[in-house]
Order: sequence, then C-alpha cells, then structure tokens
Amino acid sequence: MKVIDKINEALKDENRVVFSFEFFPPKTEDGVENLFERMERMVAHNPNFCDITWGAGGSTADLTLEIANRMQNMVCVETMMHLTCTNMPVEKIDHALDTIKSNGLQNVLALRGDPPHGQDKFVQVDGGFACALDLVKHMRSKYGDYFGITVAGYPEAHPDVIPADGVASLETYQSDLAYLKRKVDAGADLIVTQLFYDTDIFLKFVHDCRQLGITCPIVPGIMPINNYKGFLRMTGFCKTKIPAEIMAALEPIKDNEEAVRNYGVHLGTEMCKKILANGIRTLHLYTLNMEKSALAILQVGT
Ligand code: FAD
Repeated sequence: MKVIDKINEALKDENRVVFSFEFFPPKTEDGVENLFERMERMVAHNPNFCDITWGAGGSTADLTLEIANRMQNMVCVETMMHLTCTNMPVEKIDHALDTIKSNGLQNVLALRGDPPHGQDKFVQVDGGFACALDLVKHMRSKYGDYFGITVAGYPEAHPDVIPADGVASLETYQSDLAYLKRKVDAGADLIVTQLFYDTDIFLKFVHDCRQLGITCPIVPGIMPINNYKGFLRMTGFCKTKIPAEIMAALEPIKDNEEAVRNYGVHLGTEMCKKILANGIRTLHLYTLNMEKSALAILQVGT
C-alpha cells in the first residue's frame, strides 16, 4: 500500500499521531541480523511505515534491495526504499524499481544523492539523472501511479546553498522551495525533511510551503542526539543550525554518553511536543539503527 494513503487514512482520526522509523544497511551480516531483531521490536509499536536508506553513491544497492524485501515481506511493515541517482544509469535505476515492484513494495524516497566519494560536486552519470526531479518524472512516466513517491525537503535549504558561516540567503531559500514544489508537481506525494534542531525553522518551512501551494504532508525528520561527536559531525555535514541553548546544555555533559542520550530524548520530546501542538501529527525518526531514544521520544504522542 502507498504510505501516503496510509497516512491520510490514519490522520482522519483527529487523535492519532503517525510515526515512522528510518534504518540504514549495517556493514556486517551480524549487524543485519541484529537490525532485524531490533526492527521486529520497534515494528510492534505500529509505525505507519519504515524506510531503509540507499548507501552513498549506491554502495549498498544489493543489500538495500534485500533488506527492503525482507522488511516488506517478512517483518511485514510497509516499507519505503530510498533510491539515489549517484552512479546510476537509468538501467540500474529501473533494475532497482523493477526488483522492488516484483517484491510488492510500493514506496520510494526519490533522491538525487550526494556527489560520489572524493568529489565536491554532484556529477550526472552517462544515461543517468541530474536531480531528484528527473527521477520523479521518470518514475511517473515509466511506472504510472504504481509507486508512492516521497522527496526530501530542506527547512534550512539544501546544504549546497548554505554558506559555511551561516544561513542560506532569502533568494536561495526561495529558489530551493520553488524547486521542491516542482518535485511535488511532477508527482511526489509526500515530503520528509532533513534533520533540524530549531523547531521554529521547520514550522516556518511548512508555512512557506503552504503559501507556495504545496499541499502534501510534510513530515519532520527528527534525529535524536545519541552521542556528542556524532551530533557535531552530522550537523556540520548538513550545515544544520544549532540553537545556542542546545550547545549550552550539551557542553557540560559532552563526555558523559548517558547524559547526552538523556538530553537527546528530552530535546526530541520537546521538539515533537511543539510540532504536535502546531497541528502536525506526522513524525519521522532517524533511528540510526538504535531503538531506545526513538521509542522514548515517541511517548510524546502515544
Ligand atoms: P535534489 O532534490 O535533486 O536537489 C538538491 C538541491 O539542489 C535542491 O534543493 C536545489 O537547491 C538544487 N537543485 C537540484 N536540481 C535543481 C534544479 N533542476 N533546479 C533548481 N535547483 C535544483 N543520501 C543518500 O545517499 N542515501 C539516502 O538514503 C539518503 N536519504 C535521505 C533522506 C532524506 C529525508 C534526506 C533529506 C536526505 C537524504 N540523503 C540521502 C541525502 C541526499 O541524497 C542529499 O541531500 C543530496 O545532496 C540531495 O538529494 P535531493 O534528492 O534532495 O536532491
């Protein structure tokens, strides 16, 4: 079933909070088995869907396809597979799409992907696509309505257009939004956002999308802070704004992993409370393949 239909159905119940979990393909066979054990426990909490990432540059293509199949057909959770254009001529894209279609999956997060390893700029491969918009168009023209298509949204604009020292200009933010609208107009039916730690920025983004005529659900991507160094690495990579009070809260506890994790749950819970209070009842948890923080944060709406 398409995730968008599941979400729309669930949201008819005004008291319902809809949530989903993202996982990534582990590096070892043991890791994969551990992930499935964890996933079984997490799926018992009844997420609307779960998604599995596509390794940078297509590095996990076979494993992602295999895990997606197992999630859909053995864990029996509605599964969304990420798919990127990096290093992917159209034949490989179609192979991935045909494979999941034959396995009964109906949901794809369509992405451009980051530049191949060691390169600064995204390069379109021969016979491949330049951006997620091209992929969305291709999916709709070749596969019609079969797939539910999700695309990425960037509340602070895409990191490529955020200068190292600050925030995207109003002009680049607006052109990023206009491009997002083109992805939706081309056939995407759902948006999942990049991680953020300033909830007001996310709420403004939703407002700006609505002003522009984007009407599909916009699902906030919440990444619990599990570890100080990992948090700095990820926010640095994504050029995410970190509100001063978060840095001030983390500074004295940064060497105490448990305290950082507890703070991450507290912060994630407060962010979700504010999002729910603003009438948005869909939450997407970047689990980083860990269960405790994501489940603890979800206590907010269940
Ligand atoms: P696009 O939507 O194509 O565009 C990115 C930006 O480029 C746009 O915001 C816009 O500013 C500009 N742009 C591109 N084309 C045009 C155009 N034609 N006109 C105007 N502007 C344009 N990466 C992975 O490798 N694997 C994953 O599984 C994965 N999952 C992700 C999940 C989410 C929810 C998010 C937010 C990101 C994920 N990423 C993943 C990272 C993603 O691949 C990178 O952020 C990548 O750099 C951009 O992908 P995109 O689909 O947003 O690109």
